[in-house]
Amino acid sequence: MNQPVLLKYKGKTQGVYAWAKELGLNATCIYRKYNLGRPIEECLRKSKPTRYLPTDRCSVEGCDERPRTKGMCNTHYMQIFRARDRGRIRDIAKRCYYSRDPRKFMVDSARLRARKAGLPFNLVYTDIVIPETCPYLGIPLIRAVRNRSDNSPTLDKIIPERGYVRGNVIVVSNRANRAKSNLTPAELWMLAKNVSDIVELKGLNVAC
Ligand SMILES: [Zn+2]
Repeated sequence: MNQPVLLKYKGKTQGVYAWAKELGLNATCIYRKYNLGRPIEECLRKSKPTRYLPTDRCSVEGCDERPRTKGMCNTHYMQIFRARDRGRIRDIAKRCYYSRDPRKFMVDSARLRARKAGLPFNLVYTDIVIPETCPYLGIPLIRAVRNRSDNSPTLDKIIPERGYVRGNVIVVSNRANRAKSNLTPAELWMLAKNVSDIVELKGLNVAC
């Protein structure tokens, strides 16, 4: 069992709770300072009020942590402090925003691709459903932390020329999406058939 913490101050020795009551302080705060090895006077002094209201939140979009420094939570402040570069600060904020919901990233990058290619676009991120496995190949969809892998979920335009339009998009694996590219279903059939015909013709039998 822990020994009760007795604090000696101005010739008087009593427990933390007694001190807290006498001085109108919070016992937990006294304990915390005491355990940090702060001097007794400091332990029994009222701390400065916190700079932020309990309802304040980190200024990085999508972050629910309490602000600590310059309106940011500790994690984000440290990230930005280390980056010390406006461009990278924006990137970090963006990454934080996207790391909350990958669908937002998918929709934003699809919007850019659509604009570049002059394709129709009308998606919002709530239209996107990320399944457990790739509907084309049946492999599990795993969100990569950094770089895309074969299993990364990606947005596929089912009929490529119809663009990123509600009903024409589906989340598939990066592997399936690369293979399908912008082929139409008819071209895909032709491709699959011709590949397997040629494999057979050349006697390159593979287990499949
Ligand atoms: Zn934050």
